[in-house]
Amino acid sequence: MKKGEQEASQLTPTTAAPQDKPVRSPAVIFPDKGKDDWKWQMRNRIMTPEALLEAVPSLSRRSKPWLEGLAQASRLYRMAITPYYLSLIEPKDIEDPIAKQAIPSGLETLSRPWERDDPLEEEADARVTGLTHRYPDRALMVTTNLCAMYCRHCTRKREWRSPEGHASKARIDEMIRYIGEHPEIRDVIVSGGDPLILPTAKLDELLQSLRRIPHVEIIRIGTRVPVVMPMRIDGELLEVLDRAAPVWLNTQFNHPREITEESAAACEKIARTGIPIGNQTVLLRGVNDCPTVMTELCRSLLKIRVRPYYLYQCDPVKGVGHFRTAIGEGVRIIESMRGHTSGLAVPQFVIDAPGGAGKIPVMPNYVLADAGSQMILRNFEGIVLSYDNPPSSNHAACPRCAASGKQGVASLLVSDRTALIPEGTHRIKRRTHAHRHSL
Ligand SMILES: *Cc1c(COP(=O)(O)O)cnc(C)c1O
Ligand code: SF4
Repeated sequence: MKKGEQEASQLTPTTAAPQDKPVRSPAVIFPDKGKDDWKWQMRNRIMTPEALLEAVPSLSRRSKPWLEGLAQASRLYRMAITPYYLSLIEPKDIEDPIAKQAIPSGLETLSRPWERDDPLEEEADARVTGLTHRYPDRALMVTTNLCAMYCRHCTRKREWRSPEGHASKARIDEMIRYIGEHPEIRDVIVSGGDPLILPTAKLDELLQSLRRIPHVEIIRIGTRVPVVMPMRIDGELLEVLDRAAPVWLNTQFNHPREITEESAAACEKIARTGIPIGNQTVLLRGVNDCPTVMTELCRSLLKIRVRPYYLYQCDPVKGVGHFRTAIGEGVRIIESMRGHTSGLAVPQFVIDAPGGAGKIPVMPNYVLADAGSQMILRNFEGIVLSYDNPPSSNHAACPRCAASGKQGVASLLVSDRTALIPEGTHRIKRRTHAHRHSL
């Protein structure tokens, strides 16, 4: 046996082969009356293991540990699956990528020492309840803890402990006031939970109060509704979004099989309203941790006018550990996409760093050596080339950049500042001490 064959025989693939067509399982009960009615979908969400087994009787034939795991996990973290999303599941496939995102699993009850409820410390960066102001010019608003479907890999699983509910008017007013008092915030991300679950009138009111703040240039909506309950995208909602223009919408397709006639139609309507749609995929073990599946997903998204924006490393959240992959998996995916397919299809792979350090992009290395006037670069084919680098201009001399008030590493590039020095190292402490001594 050759080395490759030997290795292959020892390893089992974690990802099912990509399928061309969306599966509509006859095993799942999905009456036609809910086809265009999102309120029907909300009312008829599957919220307990019993309801799930009733809707998909063949699941009762799964193993005892599987069924016990389902019961245990759903006691720990709530569940909800729209009848629409449930109809995409292939119940015969134990590795089904749709089922893995929707059906509670015993693996959620296991935790590892490094996992946290809020690893990104969103709450520590919350200036008023529900508002995270982490980056210089943008803020994130959590307006509800309710979602049409509860993704088993959700980063905000901690929000599920409180009963389903929207932020009160007082809470929202407080967030709006904070944004109004901070002219540096020019981009507001309305997130959740899922903000498109808010009653349409309430969403309208919220968006209009943001629109009344002159320094809010753009509003972004983070929602999984086009994927899990596409019939929510109706004329009334689109009018509300259009009234708040310019609005950008980011959704979360994680697998090509989520692109159906219904979700494609929803995206088409959003795009026709003049709202650009981006996609934020979460890299999930056994769901989409495969370059072929990811490439197919991203190409299919372009066909429905959705631009792949981010590919997220799955966060170290309690109850989500079984979905996490090595960071190298993301790099492998980007290496196999960049140059091989439309640049528009290639998302930016990011790690949202624990402790609130924010998003850190990670990618394959294309710069092999940087020798100032000469750089050694490589392309996706492996061509290694020498690039004659023109001398750089002196940006520090540019008064506009110097006045831009840039923070962090970029401040070294646009000001006279020569170093960023971390606080609290032994050496810096010794220095401060010696300095005091000499005074
Ligand atoms: C992701 C995120 C943003 C937006 O980041 P972009 O890179 O601008 O998309 C803003 N605030 C918080 C807290 C975030 O996690
Ligand atoms: S839609 Fe978003 S917030 Fe809601 S469960 Fe899924 S990942 Fe979490």
